Amino acid sequence: MKQGIHPKYQEVEVICACGNRFKTGSTKKELKVDVCSQCHPFYTGSKRVMVEQGGRIDKFKKRYGI
Ligand SMILES: [Zn+2]
Repeated sequence: MKQGIHPKYQEVEVICACGNRFKTGSTKKELKVDVCSQCHPFYTGSKRVMVEQGGRIDKFKKRYGI
């Protein structure tokens, strides 16, 4: 990205309500969001849950005989 073309567009740190921080490009100096890719239901769907809580899933399966 060339400098000077979009002087107001800069890298900012986004702070999510969940505590996650990540950087993105924005014209704002600071960004605060309620949800991010780490905690948004859309991103933390069944796939992610199963990966992170595999042990629980196993217990869940045994418990319900799946
Ligand atoms: Zn978040």
